Amino acid sequence: MSNSIVIIGGGHAAAQLCAALAEAGQGARVHVVCEEPAHPYQRPPLSKSYLKNAGEALQLHRDDAWYAGKGITVHLDDAAVAIDRTARKVRLASGQELAYGQLVLATGSRARVLPALAQPLANVLSLRSAADAEAIRSRLQEKTGQLVVLGGGFIGLEVAATARHLGWEVRVLEAMPRLLSRSASPELSAQILEHHRSQGTQVELEAKVSDFRAESGRLAALRVNSEEVAVDQLLLGIGAMPETRLAQEAGLAVENGIVVDAALRTSDPDILAIGDCSSFPYRGQHVRLESVQNANDQGKAAAATLQGQPANYAPVPWFWSDQGGLRLQMVGLWRPGLQAVRRPGATPASFSLFHYDGADLVAVESANAPMDHMMARKILEAGKSPAAAQVADPAIQLKTLLT
Ligand SMILES: Cc1cc2nc3c(=O)[nH]c(=O)nc-3n(C[C@H](O)[C@H](O)[C@H](O)COP(=O)(O)OP(=O)(O)OC[C@H]3O[C@@H](n4cnc5c(N)ncnc54)[C@H](O)[C@@H]3O)c2cc1C
Repeated sequence: MSNSIVIIGGGHAAAQLCAALAEAGQGARVHVVCEEPAHPYQRPPLSKSYLKNAGEALQLHRDDAWYAGKGITVHLDDAAVAIDRTARKVRLASGQELAYGQLVLATGSRARVLPALAQPLANVLSLRSAADAEAIRSRLQEKTGQLVVLGGGFIGLEVAATARHLGWEVRVLEAMPRLLSRSASPELSAQILEHHRSQGTQVELEAKVSDFRAESGRLAALRVNSEEVAVDQLLLGIGAMPETRLAQEAGLAVENGIVVDAALRTSDPDILAIGDCSSFPYRGQHVRLESVQNANDQGKAAAATLQGQPANYAPVPWFWSDQGGLRLQMVGLWRPGLQAVRRPGATPASFSLFHYDGADLVAVESANAPMDHMMARKILEAGKSPAAAQVADPAIQLKTLLT
């Protein structure tokens, strides 16, 4: 039997897994299959600095010489198209077959599309890959005009902030009554809304979008509630779907992501799944996270499992987002029903929200308060739940709550 480790997908999770396996001297066993033409690169800048700066290059995790030096074989521009679990082989689009002893699915997620916009239209863009970012950057840099952003999630809001910075008129259309309604608390949503409006972005909540009208391969107009809106450029920012096609076709358990245990093993113990595509056990339920923290930490944990020391992945999740002068940082997972305690910062735009379930601290959201975020991470990682009155008092140094 082959002792190769084949990793399908060349994103953040794969890059971290490669680093951990190389550190353990296992590089020569590893094949990484990437459908994109570049070695694994950093995705977060693609909605931020990369769009602002025409000359900014992709930030690779590591260059090709590093992979070669560690004995890792990288298959670029060649997607995996099928997994044969009986023969333990992966078939690539090029026709090449790779035998595996252990297989890791690190296929990430894909930008969600609207059925009404399923056909490609020249001025309808979405953002997931370097190629998408390149297309958006050239539009935004070429001239200014009006950008409609469909969806008030993280990526839509980051691009909205960047486009405003570049002088575009921006209109964000959000179907829900508040921005980021699935992942941020109402208090934080309100601050984010105020921030974008103060930058001159038009944000409409409870926007019912319909009647997409295409002309000559472009989206000419759409209807927002009862108003017809002409479209210059449109960014679809309506979230992402886990890339699970190969797993499904191979008969692995899939439910909002590829289902894994705490060691990141799928329903086939020789196949692991990590990063955006995996649905893992967290506090009594299965969750799927789309974050660099999760991709990196699952990459490290998978390396342990692959080497015969099954991991027990139990993260304190954290995330960040930069939206034109507003730095958001979150640790823990906010959910409805928690009690928010506000800790003021040096300015009205700088604060943290500590969210409690009874006496238990569950999550902390920080706006322009990086020190609070760092301390909140330490507090949650230490399993502490400081008293609400203490965190509300800006005179109390958060680090004292750790002792
Ligand atoms: C524009 C943008 C900005 C972001 N900003 C932030 C941020 O500020 N903070 C944060 O924490 N997170 C951010 N994220 C999320 C973060 O980048 C993801 O959570 C992270 O990239 C997930 O890593 P991954 O390896 O699971 O998937 P990805 O990095 O998406 O990599 C998956 C790779 O697998 C490839 N693939 C899929 N199927 C196949 C196949 N069959 N064969 C071969 N290859 C395949 C894909 O092409 C892709 O290259 C951002 C994401 C985007 C898109």
